[in-house]
Amino acid sequence: MSDARRQLLEAILGDITRLAVDAIVNAANASLLGGGGVDGAIHRAAGPELLEECRRISGCPTGEVRVTRGYQLPAHWVIHAVGPVWEGGGRGEEALLASCYAHAIREAARVEARSIAFPSISTGIYGYPVDRAAPVAVRAVRETLEAAPSVERVVFTCFDERTLSVYEELLG
Ligand code: ADP
Repeated sequence: MSDARRQLLEAILGDITRLAVDAIVNAANASLLGGGGVDGAIHRAAGPELLEECRRISGCPTGEVRVTRGYQLPAHWVIHAVGPVWEGGGRGEEALLASCYAHAIREAARVEARSIAFPSISTGIYGYPVDRAAPVAVRAVRETLEAAPSVERVVFTCFDERTLSVYEELLG
């Protein structure tokens, strides 16, 4: 049975590559071969072995995740999530985004990560409006945590003040 009092959701302003949590989530693209934004930052901080491991995985469909080790990162695991490109909202973007967060929580539980940090998936280069994405993220995480009581701490890591304020409002 889940115990909501033991599962802390928080929003912080910061660089996800610096966080000493068990798992960080990457906003990856379907090739898993690196890109810009948070993906580029994670690969730079983890070192070349991360790309080596990603090359051995043959990509990842949108809405799904793949797990690798964290190498030089403080985090032990990287959960690579492929968010949807925003195309106006009528292409199943919301379900695909929710699916990324839900799969990431399930994978965190599977690898016995007790703490997990998310970036704001899809709201950078992929163009998903943050005021639409953040409620989807928080709802999917809350729902999935009910079946993942071993995950104790979820950190929504915001890279700009506007994203932080949207999350702070949602988390209260
Ligand atoms: P996507 O292609 O999924 O939109 P981006 O990396 O372009 O992914 O952006 C996702 C979010 O991650 C954006 O809010 C961006 O500002 C943020 N971001 C970029 N670098 C970092 C970082 N080092 N730590 C945390 N968040 C970051």
